[in-house]
Amino acid sequence: MKEISEERKTAYYVGMILIVIGFLTFGSVFVSGVIHFGDFTNFENQTKSSETRAIIGIVLILVGGIIRGIGARGAAGSGLVLDPKKAREDLEPFARMGGGMIKDALDEADIHLGKGSSEKVIMIKCRNCQKLNEENSKFCQECGKPL
Ligand SMILES: [Zn+2]
Repeated sequence: MKEISEERKTAYYVGMILIVIGFLTFGSVFVSGVIHFGDFTNFENQTKSSETRAIIGIVLILVGGIIRGIGARGAAGSGLVLDPKKAREDLEPFARMGGGMIKDALDEADIHLGKGSSEKVIMIKCRNCQKLNEENSKFCQECGKPL
């Protein structure tokens, strides 16, 4: 069984946390803007710090998104490393999930792929002409004698 590695899980959660912090930082710009509304004594300083926080917030959201993507799909799976084989490996847990669902659905519908082809067909040899006939046939296909 191939599972998503601990490193990737950690990267996913770290990315999530960065996104949340980014949103909070970005959001705080507007919150403090509302709180200090009408207070123009320190307007210039306030605007500067708001811009800085907005930029930091956006950067945190972007970086968090990238790290979370790597955690979810792996370095190759997220396109960070160009390696198709590794990408398939990284995405394999997801592909298996999908494959498992399809198999369950088929089982549910009582469809068994490949059945029949693996079944053995028993043949009977005609005592008269040696021709092989299917198990359930009563007369020889070749000479017409009863089997
Ligand atoms: Zn025959």
